[in-house]
Amino acid sequence: MTERVYYTSDALEMETDVVSCTRQEDGRFHVVLSATLFHPQGGGQPSDRGTINGVPLLQAIQDGHTLVHIMEGPVQPGKAHLLVDAEVRNLHTRYHSAGHIIGLAGEKFGWLGVKGNHKPGDGRIVFDALATPEPMTIEALATEIGALVQRSESRIITEAEGKRLVTWGTLKPYACGGTHVLNTAEIGDIRLIKMKEKKGQLSVQYELDA
Ligand SMILES: [Zn+2]
Repeated sequence: MTERVYYTSDALEMETDVVSCTRQEDGRFHVVLSATLFHPQGGGQPSDRGTINGVPLLQAIQDGHTLVHIMEGPVQPGKAHLLVDAEVRNLHTRYHSAGHIIGLAGEKFGWLGVKGNHKPGDGRIVFDALATPEPMTIEALATEIGALVQRSESRIITEAEGKRLVTWGTLKPYACGGTHVLNTAEIGDIRLIKMKEKKGQLSVQYELDA
């Protein structure tokens, strides 16, 4: 089990221990740490990038309760210095946080966000209709989203029944394992590119400033 320090900390650097480093058939190395700052691929949010003892991290993935760091080269057993790529983290955090805001805005029209991809350049939220959905146009949704971002609410992370709940100010919390901006204003402009309906679901594509 890897302690996920990014759940409780926005730090981009820390010291930890290498539990194992194994060479894979493709020539890459799988590194397990006792604790990590790297957010893995999952929940619609792409993996962090960065280095472990100066060795580039290609991708972090989840394997049960363990987090596997796929590395370009080997990392020696013992102490490890982790460094998260700040620019990549910031962009992923803003894209992921935008996913929350779009979901919250959709709920005002009676639509529930059920799936999300928060990948820069391919941001997407898929909505299911709740019991009594109202028609949701791209313009109306965009207006609601803009209003939520401009509330400049501060991040609140709590825990209930073993679930990590994340929201800003008085907005509704979602159970979530991603990384989140401290204030909704940090997300900036959320541009809705297109909305399409398929089998009763609404799919909304979005992008942010890089
Ligand atoms: Zn989240």
